[in-house]
Amino acid sequence: LNIRAHGANELTEKALLLAKDRLQLNEIKVNKDYSYPDIMVPADEEKVIIALLNIIINAIEAMTPGKGILTINTERLKDKAVIIISDNGPGIPEETKMRLFDPFFTNKPKGTGLGLTSTQNIIMNHKGTVHVESEIDRGSVFTVVLPTN
Ligand code: ADP
Ligand code: MG
Repeated sequence: LNIRAHGANELTEKALLLAKDRLQLNEIKVNKDYSYPDIMVPADEEKVIIALLNIIINAIEAMTPGKGILTINTERLKDKAVIIISDNGPGIPEETKMRLFDPFFTNKPKGTGLGLTSTQNIIMNHKGTVHVESEIDRGSVFTVVLPTN
């Protein structure tokens, strides 16, 4: 890992920038609620951006074009940075939730099932955690927690 200090908002913004075309194409509204000042975390920039991008792309793929709302919130919780990515997609059924992070688990005709496996590995390598909460027909919330030291 190439660890340097990066802001949680900065990493999130860079991931969003990489998703910009897909967000526009699907007419997804993005709501941001960022912590100020930015929360600095020791991170391998490219890897954490990819970890966040995988979650964002899944959210885009889950939402109905023209009706999607992606909400991104960052906050400090003691010595941790918390990045919360929410969508108003269909939610995740319990049997899918159990296998969400398994390699090659996908519900998509052309999915690889490797996105969330990679996200979890990257975040674990940063001594962080990733969890999901979801409600059917309401949406899904992915919470990434990264230590600030
Ligand atoms: P892939 O995107 O290639 O299917 P992932 O590991 O990224 O692989 O995701 C695994 C599965 O988790 C997806 O196929 C989908 O069923 C489910 N999933 C992930 N994120 C969401 C989400 N935001 N809303 C609904 N389902 C999701
Ligand atoms: Mg994916």
